[in-house]
Amino acid sequence: MIVKSRFNFLLTFLFITHLAVWSQTSRKLPVPKNIIVMIGDGMGFNHIQAVNCYEGKAAQVYQNFPVKLAVSHYPAKAGEYEEGNPGSNFIAGGYNPALAWKDTAYLKRDFTESAASATALATGYKTYNNSIGMSVTHDTLENLVQWAKATGRAAGVVTSVEFCHATPAGFTAHNIVRTNYSQIATEMLLDSRCDVIMGCGDPGFDNDGNPVKGSWKNTKYVVDSNFWQNIITGSGKQTQFTINGKRKTVRDIDGDGKPDPWTVVRSVSDFRNLRHGKTPKRVLGCPLVYETLQQKRVMINGETKDSPPQITPQISTVPALSEMSLGALNVLDNNNKGFFLMIEGGAIDWASHANQKGRLVEELESFNAAVEAVIEWVEKYSSWNETLLIVTADHETGLLWGEEPFKPIQEKGKGNLPVMNFNSENHSNSLVPFFAKGSGSELYKMFADEYDSVRGPFIQNSELPQLIHFLWYK
Ligand SMILES: [Zn+2]
Repeated sequence: MIVKSRFNFLLTFLFITHLAVWSQTSRKLPVPKNIIVMIGDGMGFNHIQAVNCYEGKAAQVYQNFPVKLAVSHYPAKAGEYEEGNPGSNFIAGGYNPALAWKDTAYLKRDFTESAASATALATGYKTYNNSIGMSVTHDTLENLVQWAKATGRAAGVVTSVEFCHATPAGFTAHNIVRTNYSQIATEMLLDSRCDVIMGCGDPGFDNDGNPVKGSWKNTKYVVDSNFWQNIITGSGKQTQFTINGKRKTVRDIDGDGKPDPWTVVRSVSDFRNLRHGKTPKRVLGCPLVYETLQQKRVMINGETKDSPPQITPQISTVPALSEMSLGALNVLDNNNKGFFLMIEGGAIDWASHANQKGRLVEELESFNAAVEAVIEWVEKYSSWNETLLIVTADHETGLLWGEEPFKPIQEKGKGNLPVMNFNSENHSNSLVPFFAKGSGSELYKMFADEYDSVRGPFIQNSELPQLIHFLWYK
């Protein structure tokens, strides 16, 4: 069953009470034309602090946004989803500020993972861990991409990990469990009305960007090898494909009655060219690398997990997240009704799971560069009156602190790794940062009705889209 977003009632009530204050200043409620949500996967407050120390910076540009809050992201049901084992997910314990600052053991319990958090950030509903766009009762939830398309806007997702991985999938697809990659990729490419999908997963390359010799083994991220060959050779033209013996047609994304083929962009030069000038109508961007843009490249030159960044040279044949983001914006702004775009720095989480200090700094720097590129785009081609930009995270990974837990990250001078230590190889229930600027951003302060003794006022991850739904549908 498809669950139409029914939190209107709650929101309307909320707004009636709060709106009084707002209308005092007699300003009409804004309707953001464009909304850009940038997610640092696993990015906690201390991840940002570690990079500030390394760069000798007081703050990243988004830390000076007018709206600064925190986000709680615990799921409705924690644990790991196992098909046929309903007990594998259990009711999560929420977030208790008093306990959170008492001991790390509390933060290591009942944490979310990216699929459940992305689903909450995209649909407004908290759900069970590993869910992709499904409720705790396994109903299909409408998401931000669908709302954008339903309001005549364009929509897209961009990530530095596989395009059908948990976070981009949470904004575009619906599946009982996040590991059904082939099914999820099929839904994203053949059933969604996305205008842009960008991310890794190409089975023809390894994690260093080298072509794979012999037959492709890992095709789950791209549906299957037959489909992948066809979509590449049929780029810009082919609209019908055979998957598991069934003929399927891509969707009509602009309501002209004709199915819209994907134009496949792969080479770094094609990604860079996409940033300017005329663009294809619909773009699938898949760099020539397997799982991530850079984080999974093999460590050489004696690099270890405690090494500073850039010991192993970066892969030169893949674009940067900032370049992918600008290309996506150049396609989406073809729609003069506006657009929704989710951009994920996905491998911040992977570097943190692996407790890699230098690679974490690299991934944060790549994400921060993408945020700066997006800000420049807004100020050059749009405005803060019509565009809302949110920079946040889906959860924290690695329980990153300084010398010991709850001790601040300590700088050791520009260009040196600060004193930073991971206290886990997994996610934590620590609050994460939320920064917003532009059309409607101030209204998030009304949602921040919970308070943390250290991080201040905070919202729930599921409240991020609730405001958007209200503003777009009121
Ligand atoms: Zn993770």
